[in-house]
Amino acid sequence: GLILGIESSCDETSAAVVRGGREALSNVVASQLIHGDYGGVVPELASREHLRAIVPVVQQAMQQAGVAYSDLEAIAVTAGPGLAGALLVGLTFAKALAFGTELPLIGVNHLEGHIHAVLMHSEESFAEASPLLALVVSGGHTHLYLATKTPENTWHYRNVGKTLDDAAGEAYDKVAKLLGLPYPGGPWMDALAKHGDPKAVPFSFAQIKTKATGNTAPKLAREADDQTRRFDLSFSGIKTAVRRYVELHAMRERIDARARALQESGLAKGKPSDPATLTRALAYFEPETLNLIASFQASVTGYLTRTVFAATEHFGARGLLVSGGVAANSELRQRISAEAARRRLPVAFPSIALSTDNAAMIAAAAWPKLRAGQFAPETMEPTPQLRLG
Ligand code: ATP
Ligand code: FE
Ligand code: MG
Repeated sequence: GLILGIESSCDETSAAVVRGGREALSNVVASQLIHGDYGGVVPELASREHLRAIVPVVQQAMQQAGVAYSDLEAIAVTAGPGLAGALLVGLTFAKALAFGTELPLIGVNHLEGHIHAVLMHSEESFAEASPLLALVVSGGHTHLYLATKTPENTWHYRNVGKTLDDAAGEAYDKVAKLLGLPYPGGPWMDALAKHGDPKAVPFSFAQIKTKATGNTAPKLAREADDQTRRFDLSFSGIKTAVRRYVELHAMRERIDARARALQESGLAKGKPSDPATLTRALAYFEPETLNLIASFQASVTGYLTRTVFAATEHFGARGLLVSGGVAANSELRQRISAEAARRRLPVAFPSIALSTDNAAMIAAAAWPKLRAGQFAPETMEPTPQLRLG
C-alpha cells in the first residue's frame, strides 16, 4: 500500500511516500523563500521554482523512504485548487512518471489533503464517527465541510460554510502588514498577542444570513431548509476596523518607524517562535499596539470557535477536524479544545509539520480512492478553482 504523493499548488514543492494512508516514510518539502522579499506569493516565480525543485524533491522522497518505483501502488497528485502554473508543474510531472512506470494516477483536491493531514494520525480516535465537521483555515481558505463516510469507505464532503471575503489567515497577514510586522504575519500576531490585553479594543462580527429563513413555511419544508443552512463568515470588517483604529489613534508614524527598526535589526528575518527573537522584538512595541493585536486575536479566534460549534450542533457532527496554516494558532487551538472538551466532542488538529502544505497529506487522501478504484482520467488537467464536494 505505498503511494507517492506530489504537491505543487502554491509555494511549496513537496513529495512523500506514505504507506496505507497513514505512515509517512518520507515527506520532503521545499519552501520557496524567494516570495518573502515581495510580501506575498508571485505566481510566475512559483512556477519557475517548482520546475527547478520537482525532480530532486521526488528523488529525495524516494531515497529517504528507501523504496523503488516498482514498490509503489499508485502516484497521487494535487489537481487543484491553486495557482494554474504551479499546479501544472506537479501534474505534468506526475502524469509522465505514471506513464513511464505504468502506475495508476490519482488526482487529489488540495483541501481534502488538508483534512487528511489530520485524519492520517487521528482516524482511530474518531472510530466510525460520521459525519465529521472539518474546518480548513489557511491563507487562502476558511471553509467548513460536513464529511460523511460512504459505503465504499471513502469520504463525501459537503460545503456548509465559507468566508465571503478574506480568508482568516489572509486577515491575519493583512492586519500584520498594516501594523508593520514581518511577513508572514500570522505567527508574529499569535506570539505578540500573548503580551497584550485582549479586552482593550471591542471588535464585533456581524451575523451573516446567507439564506433567509422564515417560519411561515410548512414544517417539512422548514426541516428540509435546515439541512441547507449555511455557516458563512466574513473577515473584511475587522480588517477595516483595525485600519480605522490605527488612523484614529495616529499610530502610522510609530508603525513605520518600528517596521524599519525590525528590518534593520535583522529581527524581521527571525522566527517569533524563538523566545530570544520575540523578547528582542517586544522592546519595539508599546502597550497600545500589543493590546490591539491581542484584541484582534481574541475576536477572530472567538468568532471562528462560535461558528464552528454552531455548525457541529446544527448538523449533529460526531467529531471535529481543524486543519490549514491557521490551525497552528495557539489561541484557536486552546479555545476549540476547551469547548470540544466541554461538549465531549472528539477534536483533532494536525501536527505542526503537517499543518502547512505538504505531499504526505496528498498521498494519505489518495489511499481510500486507491482502494475504491477511483483513478484519474488521462485527460486530467490542473483546476485552479477546483471545489470540494
Ligand atoms: P492554502 O492552503 O489555502 O492554499 P496557504 O498556502 O497560504 O493557503 P497555509 O500554508 O496552510 O496556507 O497557511 C499559511 C497561513 O497561515 C498564513 O496566512 C499564515 O499567516 C497563517 N498562520 C500560520 N501560523 C499562524 C498562527 N500561529 N496564527 C495565525 N495564523 C497563522
Ligand atoms: Fe494549503
Ligand atoms: Mg503555503
